[in-house]
Amino acid sequence: MSDIALLPQVEAFLRRPHALFIDGDYLASEGSQTLDVINPATGQVIAQVSDATCDDIDAAVASSRRGFKQWSQTAPAVRGHVLLKLADLLERHREELAQIETCQSGKIIQISRAFEVDQAAHFLRYYAGWATKIGGETLTPSLPSFAGERYTAFTLREPVGVVVGIVPWNFSTMIAIWKLASALVTGCSVIIKPSEFTPLTILRIAELAIEAGLPAGALNVLTGGGQVGKGLIEHPGTDKVSFTGSVPTGLAVGQAAMGAGLTRATLELGGKNAAGFLKDVDPDVAVNGIIEAGFLHSGQICAAAERFFVHRTQLEPIMDKLARRLGQFKIGSPLDESTTFGPVANRPHQQKLGECFAKARAQGSTIVHGGHLIDRPGCYVEPTIILAHRRDAALLHEETFGPVATFFPYDSEEELLELMNDTPYGLSASLWTNDLSKALRMVPAIAAGTVWVNMHTLLDPAVPFGGSQSSGLGREFGSAFIDDYTELKSVMIRY
Ligand code: NAD
Repeated sequence: MSDIALLPQVEAFLRRPHALFIDGDYLASEGSQTLDVINPATGQVIAQVSDATCDDIDAAVASSRRGFKQWSQTAPAVRGHVLLKLADLLERHREELAQIETCQSGKIIQISRAFEVDQAAHFLRYYAGWATKIGGETLTPSLPSFAGERYTAFTLREPVGVVVGIVPWNFSTMIAIWKLASALVTGCSVIIKPSEFTPLTILRIAELAIEAGLPAGALNVLTGGGQVGKGLIEHPGTDKVSFTGSVPTGLAVGQAAMGAGLTRATLELGGKNAAGFLKDVDPDVAVNGIIEAGFLHSGQICAAAERFFVHRTQLEPIMDKLARRLGQFKIGSPLDESTTFGPVANRPHQQKLGECFAKARAQGSTIVHGGHLIDRPGCYVEPTIILAHRRDAALLHEETFGPVATFFPYDSEEELLELMNDTPYGLSASLWTNDLSKALRMVPAIAAGTVWVNMHTLLDPAVPFGGSQSSGLGREFGSAFIDDYTELKSVMIRY
């Protein structure tokens, strides 16, 4: 097959000069610096965006403060309605948004449609439902009455203020939607700082948000590099940062937030997630599970598994079957609907994966399948299976964030748990078995924010998600996000 034709509106959008989105419209940057947006499937520059300056940051924050004043006073039902309307608009512009996303990130078009648009709309609708359900409690104070007086108390949930949402490149639309929906539904205003590699789709979504009825200033989008995110966190006019990205950047963000006068921080970081296969698992089920856990979107998913622990007796059959399946992947253009495996998202990431392969070889690990960059235009990498021979092998400890499954055998279930927990991180993990009773006994022993059983990677807006240990602070989704986007005010009354 061949590439689908880009819609005329996508061609036109890519050709436009891209300004910053401030106060409900595009505003030219105060500076002249721009950043190239490169299609990782071809290596070609497809657009240029502004690299926001300090003056632009000031303008966006001033607009967001005005936006906060208005939006926080908007009735909850209206806030929910605007988010529902935005979800409808995402679906109405499904193909346009999916194509823009695929051009900037290299994500295969089916994943852009299903996750970046359909799932994003699903999450938006889930958050919209919370608009009318966020409230406080009525409390009975514990103080004794000294002279016949009485006490009562209640709590209020108040929006924290101006939120800075800093987004990585792997799911640039869906993660931006998680952040803007959490902020807007609680009555906060929000400034999204997309990744410098994937800044385009959110600019188009900001236009749709205005069409959905969002007031100017409730959502601003500032494009640029890491210094723009840092400038926003350190700005005295912002109140909270919600960051998703790598562990080293997350640590810098957390420190900057504390240094900026205890700016609230939610940190969704990476890690080195494990999948443990108990001895009873059918090898075919295991192989499907490994593909779901490690190779969806070329492994560029924070929750994806990178360490695979298999009982020693099953190691060879599972790796053989997996290698055969990876060999059947159709590697090609992400705009070709028959492609099942596209490029990784950018050149630095491709190079980093090349270094991971070199390190694995240097340490004596066996490359069972793949293990090379692909020699063609764009940023392609082979889907790879590595067998580590030492527990301290680098690829059992360092995040690759790519299509690289590293295997290690175990003999006993105690050893399996030890191996799974041998990491300072704790974002996600999965156990695969037909013995649910055994799985439920093992779950509490696994250090991770999410533990899946017989599944991996799929996130649901109703189920809280976030990292334990060095994988982050705070939770998104469920009702858990409300704590992070609101201040709890206590009111006590004597009568
Ligand atoms: P990154 O940390 O390099 O960048 C993330 C964002 O932070 C970008 O927008 C970047 O411009 C910005 N940034 C960089 N330096 C900054 C600074 N000093 N202050 C403020 N902002 C700064 O991450 P990435 O390479 O874009 O994304 C991949 C990483 O994201 C992986 O480690 C992955 O595990 C992680 N991730 C985590 C989750 C999660 O929910 N836990 C989800 C997706 C990705």
